[in-house]
Amino acid sequence: MSVVETQPPLPADVSALRTGIWSTTATQDQDGVLNIGGVPVTEIAERYGTPAYVFDEADFRMRCTTYREAFHDFDIYYASKAFLTRTSARIAKETGLSLDVCTEGELAYAKAVDFPPERVLMHGNNKSEAELAAALEYGVGRIVVDSREELDRLEALLPSFPNSRPGVLLRVTVGVRADTHAHIATAHEDQKFGFSLVSGEAEEAVRRVVDNGLLELRGLHSHIGSQILTTQGFEAAAKRLVGLRAKLAEDGIDLPELDLGGGFGIAYTSEDQPTPAAEMADILRTAVAKECAQLGVSVPRLAIEPGRAIAGPSGATLYRVGTVKHREGIRTFVAVDGGMSDNVRTALYAATYTVQLAGRVSDAAPTLVRVVGKHCDAGDVVVRDDHLPADVRAGDLIAVPGTGAYCRSLAHNYNQIPRPPVIAVLEGRAREIVRRETVADLMGLDVG
Ligand SMILES: *Cc1c(COP(=O)(O)O)cnc(C)c1O
Repeated sequence: MSVVETQPPLPADVSALRTGIWSTTATQDQDGVLNIGGVPVTEIAERYGTPAYVFDEADFRMRCTTYREAFHDFDIYYASKAFLTRTSARIAKETGLSLDVCTEGELAYAKAVDFPPERVLMHGNNKSEAELAAALEYGVGRIVVDSREELDRLEALLPSFPNSRPGVLLRVTVGVRADTHAHIATAHEDQKFGFSLVSGEAEEAVRRVVDNGLLELRGLHSHIGSQILTTQGFEAAAKRLVGLRAKLAEDGIDLPELDLGGGFGIAYTSEDQPTPAAEMADILRTAVAKECAQLGVSVPRLAIEPGRAIAGPSGATLYRVGTVKHREGIRTFVAVDGGMSDNVRTALYAATYTVQLAGRVSDAAPTLVRVVGKHCDAGDVVVRDDHLPADVRAGDLIAVPGTGAYCRSLAHNYNQIPRPPVIAVLEGRAREIVRRETVADLMGLDVG
C-alpha cells in the first residue's frame, strides 16, 4: 500500500485551467497568468497583497439571474451566510432575489443596502429576543420559527410592533439524511434544527400557532443540508412536507407556502456534477405538484434558499507560496501565506479543492502536492490532494477556485492572523470591497 491514501486523477495538462470549477470570467494569458474579471492576479497580489479573496462580480450576478430565471415561479432567498458583503447583498437585491439572514449582524447588511424588508427572511435555531425585535422593527417578510420557545418569544414581542406582521414558517425536521458531510446534514432526527416530523412535534406546533391566532402562519420549511449533488433528498423532503400539509388540510388548516431550503451543490473538482438550476427547478416543481395531486391538496407557493450555488463558484483565493518541502515518495508540501483561517472547510468538512499555478507558465511535469497553511496545526490544510508543476517554488502565486462560499464567512483569527481582504473584479477593474484586517484591528479588540 502506498503511503498516500488518495490521489486525484493526473490532469492532462497541469498548467491549464480545469473545466467547470472556475468563475466564468477566469482565463489564462499567454504568460500563464490567471485573469479574473479581466484583471491579472499578479496585479491583485501586487496592489492588495496575499492572501486575498477574489470576487468575480459578473459571475455572481449571472448566477443570481440564472436562479431567478430557472426558479421564476419560486421565491428565491439568497442565503447570505454563504458570502455576505454590501456588494453581494446589493446584487441580490438588484437581480430580484430575496435575502435570508439569521442574525442581527446579517440583518445589518440588509439594512445597509435598503433591502426591501418584505423580501427578507429571518432564520436561526436560537434567535435572541433582541434579534427577533430587530427583525420586527425592520419589518421582515418572513420569520422561520425553529422552536417552541421562539414561538413564545415572538408572540410576546408582537404587540410592541403593531406595524409588523411577518409571515411565519415553521422549520420541520423531515427525517431525511442528506447525502453530504455529517456537519452539514441538517434534517435527520439527531441534530439541532427544527420541529421533528416523525414525533408529531411539527404538527403540534402548527396547531398551537393556529389556535393562538397571533401569528400569521404561511407554511412549512425544510433545509436538508448543504453541498448536495443529488436530487433524491430534496424530493423525499418535499414529499414528507406535502404529506403533513395534506393532513393539516383535512382539518381546514391551509398552508399556502412551502420553503425547501438551500443546499444545492457546486463543482469543487472537475469530477463533481451538480444538477443545473433549471433541471433542479423542474424536479422540485414536479415532485411537489405530483404529491399534491395524489393527496388532493392545492399546490403551494414554493421557495428556495441557495447560498453556495450562487456565491461558491464566484470566488477564488489567491496565495503566495512561502516554502516547498519535497517528501520523497510521499508528496510535496506547498505552504502558503494563509491557511485554515481563511478556508476552514477542508479541516471542518473534509472539503475537496483544487489548486492552480497562477502567476507564470511552467512546462514541468505534474507532481502530487498538499497545499498547507502557516498555522500551528497539522490539520491546517487548504488543498488535500492535487497536482502542481514540479518546479513550484517560494514566491509563486497559486489560486484555489470555488472559495466564494463559506470561506470568508467562516474565516477566523487563529494564531492572530488578520483575515484577508475581498477584492471584487469586474470588466478589467479591481476594487477592495472588504479591506484586509490588520494586527492593529486585532489588538484593538483586546481591551484588557
Ligand atoms: C445554510 C442554509 C442555507 C444555504 O445553504 P447552501 O448550501 O449554501 O445553499 C439555506 N437555508 C438554511 C436554513 C441554511 O441554514
